[in-house]
Amino acid sequence: MNAELVVNSQSTLGEGPCWDPENQHFYWVDILEKKIHRLDTVTKEREEITLESYVGAAALKQNGGLIVALMTGLYELNWNSKSLHLIEDPESNLPGNRFNDGKCDPYGRFWAGTMDAEENKTSGALYCLDVNGELRKKIDNVGISNGITWSPDHKIMYFIDTPTGKVVKYDYCLKTGEISSPIPVITFPDDVGFPDGMTIDTEGMLWIAHYSGGGVSRWNPETGEQLNFISVPAVNVTSCTFGGKNIDELYVTTARKDMNEEQLSQYPYAGGVFKIKTTVKGITNFPYRGI
Ligand code: ZN
Repeated sequence: MNAELVVNSQSTLGEGPCWDPENQHFYWVDILEKKIHRLDTVTKEREEITLESYVGAAALKQNGGLIVALMTGLYELNWNSKSLHLIEDPESNLPGNRFNDGKCDPYGRFWAGTMDAEENKTSGALYCLDVNGELRKKIDNVGISNGITWSPDHKIMYFIDTPTGKVVKYDYCLKTGEISSPIPVITFPDDVGFPDGMTIDTEGMLWIAHYSGGGVSRWNPETGEQLNFISVPAVNVTSCTFGGKNIDELYVTTARKDMNEEQLSQYPYAGGVFKIKTTVKGITNFPYRGI
């Protein structure tokens, strides 16, 4: 398996990959440049929206438009009119925090977490926006809220708090969105970077981006065993999601942030979007079913 460059976007902090299976659109964000990008993978047309605040993640809404997680809270975004509508800002009392990674669960709730923008404190949390519009805090004392995904049988949620170097599994109730009984299932070794964004395939294996580790790895969360590692020509690999007509293409986002001059000349396409053709099919993004 090889990583092929899809968009030479030179993103400062490319993140939040999201596939729209209906339109074959690929969305991603550049958190620090406050941009949401969209690639039409059929026509290759690219569009972007620049916002006034850091944007950590974006998810499709079932009835059109996006849910976006900004530094200033969760909003609905109308792509065509570019208008924003505030849903809720749960951390208006924590101005140093910003939203980071987020995505929808199989039921259609939107989950997104926060972090200290300076990366010094564990003042972050993971929130869940239910389909009735209610926002609830699910996990507290988070350093950098990142990878989140759900098992194919919808019974387990996996979550990464990046500085811990671990993937933690929770029992997950599809009907209520309750999570319980956290157990660490994967620990990254010291010399492979930090676990960042994450997704899952139809065999229940996790695909995890290595920030400062130059690639994406596939893991069995039942045994904690690493099954594969695919290099990506960028040092800071941030997240991944399955897309393509057959959901067998792994779209990977990367960052130019935190690279030195030597690394930048060695990896000129860092910050771009890459694609890996996989032999297994993935589970792609779910839309938000509320509002
Ligand atoms: Zn991330």
